[in-house]
This record gives sequence, C-alpha cells and structure tokens, in this order.
Amino acid sequence: METNFDVIIIGGGAAGMMAGIFASEKKRVLIIDHNEKLGKKLYITGKGKCNLTNNSEVETHLNNIVTNSKFMYSALNNFTAQDTINFFETNGLKTRTERGNRVFPASDKSSDVIKCLVNCLNKNGVKVTLNTEIKSVTKQGDVFHILCMSGVEYTCNSLIVATGGLSYAGTGASDFGFQLAKQFGHKIVKPVSALCPIVVNDDVSALNGVSLRNVTLYTKIGGKSYSQFGDLLFTYNSLTGPTALTMSSLINKLNIKNQTISIDFKPALSQEKLEEKFKREFVTFAKKDYKNYLYTLLPAKMADYFYNSVGIKNKKLADLTKADRNILITHLKKFDFSIKSLDNINVGIVTSGGVDVKDIDSHTCMSKLVKNLYFVGEVLDVDALTGGFNLQIAWSTGVLAGKSAANLT
Ligand SMILES: Cc1cc2nc3c(=O)[nH]c(=O)nc-3n(C[C@H](O)[C@H](O)[C@H](O)COP(=O)(O)OP(=O)(O)OC[C@H]3O[C@@H](n4cnc5c(N)ncnc54)[C@H](O)[C@@H]3O)c2cc1C
Repeated sequence: METNFDVIIIGGGAAGMMAGIFASEKKRVLIIDHNEKLGKKLYITGKGKCNLTNNSEVETHLNNIVTNSKFMYSALNNFTAQDTINFFETNGLKTRTERGNRVFPASDKSSDVIKCLVNCLNKNGVKVTLNTEIKSVTKQGDVFHILCMSGVEYTCNSLIVATGGLSYAGTGASDFGFQLAKQFGHKIVKPVSALCPIVVNDDVSALNGVSLRNVTLYTKIGGKSYSQFGDLLFTYNSLTGPTALTMSSLINKLNIKNQTISIDFKPALSQEKLEEKFKREFVTFAKKDYKNYLYTLLPAKMADYFYNSVGIKNKKLADLTKADRNILITHLKKFDFSIKSLDNINVGIVTSGGVDVKDIDSHTCMSKLVKNLYFVGEVLDVDALTGGFNLQIAWSTGVLAGKSAANLT
C-alpha cells in the first residue's frame, strides 16, 4: 500500500477536493476523510441544489465577505467566480445563473457538483481514503507524519488542512483542524455561529412558521445600526429567513444578549404616509373591527400576535383615538423583540472564527509558522453572506493551496 505522498489533504469537502485537483496536476496526492464519502456537506448546500458561486466581480465577493475580506483578495483574484464556472463547465457540469447572480448546476442537483469533482480527482489519479480517523499529526524534519487510528502511517512533504467549520456536525464537521492548528502554534479565533437563526427571549411559539415578505429587520448595538430588508421567518423560538440569517453574521461578535431587534412591517411607507392611510381608511371602514383590520396589514398569525402585544382592544376603527393611531403606527414601524442569543453553532450555515489569518500567507494559504502546512476553506477565520460566496472561498483557497503545494505558483 502506498503511504508516502507529495501532498496529503485532510478533509474531502469543497476546499479539500479542489486543492486535490490542482495539486495533482504535478504531484502525488492523497485525501483523507473520516466520512464514508466525499463532499457530504456539499450535498446539502443550496437546499440540495448547490449554489456553487456568485457570478459577479471580485469586488462583490469581497463586499459579501463578513470576516477578513482583505485576506481573500489574492485567492479570489487568482481563482475568480468566472474561473469556477469555467472549471465546472470544462469538466462537464452545465451551470445556470439565477436571481442575485447565484450559480447552480443546470440539473439543480448538488450531487452532480460532487460527481464532477470526484471525476476530476479520479482522472488525476488522486488517492482517497475514507472512514479514516486520524490519531496524530507530527512534523519530523521536512516530513509530516499522519498516523491513523487503524495504525497506518502516511507521510508527505506538504499537508493541506481542509476540515471545515463546526456547523452541521452530521456532515462530518469537527474541530480537528482547529486542534491541529493550535498544536502547530496557530491562534484560533473563537468559533461562533454565522448565518443562523436569532433566538429571542419573547415567546414567539405562536408565530412558528409565519413568513413575512419585504420587511426591514433592524437593530442598534454598540452605537452602530444594522438593517436588512427582505423576507423574515419565525420558528417556535427564533427569527430566521434571509434577513435574520444575514443579520446574525453581522452581529455575531457583538454583545447581543438582551439587545432589542425590531421589525418595520411597512418599510415602503413613512410614518406620515401611514398616518394618511389610516385617517382615510378609519373613516371609510368605520364600522370594521380594529382586529379584523389588522388582518389586512399583516399575515393572520402575526396580526393576532400584534393584537395581543399592542394594548388596543375591542374597538371599531371609528373608536380609535389619535393616541391609538400613533401606537399602531409606532408598532408597525418598530415591533421589538429581545435577543436571547444566536442559535447553536451546529445550526449555523457557516462558522465564523477559526484559524487566525494573520499567521497565514494570503498568496498561498501556507502557514507562516510551519513550512508546507496549509489551511483552506471554512477552517480559516473567513465567512461570507449567502449567495454562493462561501463556496467561492472554499474553491479559491483550495486552488491557491493546491497550486502552491504543487509548486505551480
Ligand atoms: C445547510 C447548508 C447549506 C449551504 N449552502 C451553501 C450554498 O448554497 N452556497 C455556498 O456558497 N455555501 C453554502 N454553505 C456553506 C458551504 O457548504 C461551506 O462553506 C463549505 O462546504 C466549506 O467547505 P470546506 O471544504 O471548507 O468544508 P466542508 O465542506 O465542511 O468539508 C470539510 C471536510 O472535512 C472532513 N473532516 C472534518 N474533520 C475531519 C477529521 N477529523 N478527519 C478527516 N476528515 C475530517 C469532513 O468530513 C468534510 O468532508 C452551506 C452550508 C450548509 C450547512
């Protein structure tokens, strides 16, 4: 059995497979993964469709990276979104671009993305060992020794760590990469949930499943304002959906406990416009119950919750006073919840935090502390918003390290 390789990659997810494909242009490569198959997380991306990149300029990618976007400058310029699309198209995967420049496989099947990558690995003769737990990694002289639980020891000159973040443990996520980095003297920025639901102190169980369209979610923390326009969903204990997920990534390093987060249900209408509308309609529909009128403003369950939270009860529209009208407007423009926490890291779509990029060369993804040791993908302290930006981070850093390990840069 072959145990000596030029390059070994620990982790066969998006970043690891891409690193393997590029390193194997010139070198003998082994990928080690403890899962029973490659790309298990890729399989569930984009709700099974895999939003594999965002068809936009490097600048747009940098703007959508929440943590350490500057670090990504070289990697994204070296392997752009267009390069990603070309790579997959050249290797037989047709793609299509949707709303928001999101790129998907034309088949809408993430499994086709994995198949394409695995075909490339096979074509280049990359060896893969699955169901393989690693016991220890050491460096003796210039050689890395990777001892597996099975007793097999692999050796290599370059080691690429592509073990991902902590979210979705069922896909094989582990803190192995963080521990390995620490062992070699790297600092780990505390991992926190990103792109995850925001759990609130309020009892929102009655709102479970409610979906709001075109609202603004906003908060002010530490003197800075954050605001997101779009769709919002409720679970039994949290705010989720696109606006909340994005918000979670923007505020996850702040002291958010018990801070107020608010919904503007009518962002297109100013207070004055709402005032005019209500003055007019309260006369036209004077006999209508205020509660029934709320159903014309909000989805039914949200209207009931709003009715119970805002102290106006058992009135016809004609009976509403100016003060009532003001209360109604104020709450439509600013309906408050109290933040308890972000949801568990396992539930986040990505992990923010990880290997501190200060000790990683952004031109190669090689450790500045240990020669020929590389870190790529989500194991790094880099995370982005939704739209295909996170996978582009995995592809671009994977390519960079793969090329560098193969001395192709
Ligand atoms: C539900 C969901 C949907 C998503 N959708 C999208 C999307 O549509 N577009 C997008 O851009 N991003 C999306 N993401 C984010 C994206 O999947 C990740 O950012 C990306 O997979 C990170 O790639 P990676 O290679 O760094 O890590 P991973 O893909 O997580 O791969 C890490 C690999 O390392 C292996 N590993 C871990 N520990 C060990 C160990 N001790 N020994 C051996 N192997 C190990 C794992 O088994 C795994 O195969 C989504 C994430 C989730 C959870």
